[in-house]
This record gives sequence, structure tokens and C-alpha cells, in this order.
Amino acid sequence: RWAKIAHKNGVPLIVDNTFATPINCRPFEWGADIVTHSTTKYMDGHDATVGGCIVDSGKFDWMAHSEKFPGLCTPDESYHGITYATKFGKEGAFITKCTAQLMRDFGSIQSPMNAYMLNLGLESLPVRVKQHCANGQAVAEFLSQHKNVAWVNYPGLKDNKYYALAQKYMPNGTCGVVSFGVKGGRAAAEKFMKNLKLAMIATHVADARTCVLHPASATHRQLTDEELVACGVGPDMVRFSCGIEATEDIIADLKQALEAI
Ligand SMILES: *Cc1c(COP(=O)(O)O)cnc(C)c1O
Repeated sequence: RWAKIAHKNGVPLIVDNTFATPINCRPFEWGADIVTHSTTKYMDGHDATVGGCIVDSGKFDWMAHSEKFPGLCTPDESYHGITYATKFGKEGAFITKCTAQLMRDFGSIQSPMNAYMLNLGLESLPVRVKQHCANGQAVAEFLSQHKNVAWVNYPGLKDNKYYALAQKYMPNGTCGVVSFGVKGGRAAAEKFMKNLKLAMIATHVADARTCVLHPASATHRQLTDEELVACGVGPDMVRFSCGIEATEDIIADLKQALEAI
């Protein structure tokens, strides 16, 4: 649907596929033109390197909408006066501008050591993603049955509003990140966090180790409770990123932390 709307309006559809990874979702097959990833997350998988990547399908016709894309459709004086869209066609215009001009000017080039570590991560990505998803599903099901949990948001749960879409686009699983509300609001959520033994308190997500964040007391602590609710990150909300540890160990940690509130 979004691809149709974008194309009708002469703009490319860009999908951030960081959480699903190419193992679970292949946006080009659904009409996306460009895919981006924070490779810092599942792709690296071990919190070892910071990075990102852009994948260009080479299908978007920039010249057909040249008035919207002067950076691609008019000469680049800083690069021998070439016009990317005519010189490289739709197959290469965007990604060549990214590498020839933007990487040169902004310096966003991965060091060889970081590229090496990212590649180590990529080699085990399919195996890890499977375990992240199995843990995410088991944790979501466990939490949705727990008396101290107010709500759970995970697209693998049958009563989730995105369940049908997740089944269509990501039939093998979505990711290991589950969000939920602790009964008792902010104070109970803070207590829950303090009780955890296995899960690591971190802003980071999508890592081999289970990471957990209570936005209201960390990344979003400058907001009032009303502002938190308005931006969909209520004071009771916990973001739980399941690692690749044994499922029963993660659940045992959640269980003792919830029960000790
Ligand atoms: C973390 C994240 C980013 C930003 O990536 P960095 O590598 O941290 O700069 C972008 N998109 C998603 C979905 C992320 O989780």
C-alpha cells in the first residue's frame, strides 16, 4: 500500500529493515525502492561495532520526477559535473551518489576492522535471528499470561493489531523485541528493572544478550507522564529485547523480577 502511494506521488519508498533483517523481511519484494539497516543491531549482533547500510533496488526512476531530485538529476560540480541519473541510470544513480559524493564528504566509511567484525556477525545472522524470534514469541506469550503485566505489544501474538500483517510480510517471525506495561505504572516498572538478574539494562537493542530499557526513567526521562502517553511511550512501558540465551533462563529472570515487585 505504501509503495503504491509513494509511486503515485513520484517518491521512492524507503524501508528501515533493521529489526526484521533480510532474514525475516525482504522489502523489495513488496515494492520498496531503498532499504536501510542499522548494522549496529542484529547484523553485528554483539554490540561490537556501530554501522549502517543502504541497499538500493535500482528500480526508482529519478529522471521521471527530475524536479523533485536536483541532487540526482542536475550536474554535480564537485564530481566532474556528472549528472548521476543520466550517467548511471536508475540502476546506479542513488547508490553512486551515496558512495561517490556523500561518503566522500561526510566520511561515513567503515574502518576495515569494523567491517571485519560486522562480517563475522553476518555469518551467523540466520541462526541468531531464529533464536531471537523464538525467544520473543515465548516471552510475549509468558508476559501476556502474567498477573503483574498490564499489556503486551508483540506482532506474533494472535490478538495483536499487526498480527495479520506480520503473518503476511514476516511469516517466519518478526524480531526479538517485545514491549509491555508493568501493572503499577512507573514505580512498579522501576522496581521490576532493579530486580532483573540476567537481562542487561541498556539503551541498545537487538543484541545477542538480552537488553532491557524503561524509557520513562532513561531515554525519555525529560518528558512528563502526559507527554509520555501522548508519544506512545507510557510511564509503565518496558522495552525488552530478547537475546539468544536459553528461553527458560530469560523467562525465569522475568518471572522472579515480576514477582518481586
Ligand atoms: C538503532 C536504530 C537506528 C539507528 O542506528 P545506529 O546504528 O544506532 O545509528 C535506526 N533504525 C532502527 C530501527 C534502530 O533500531
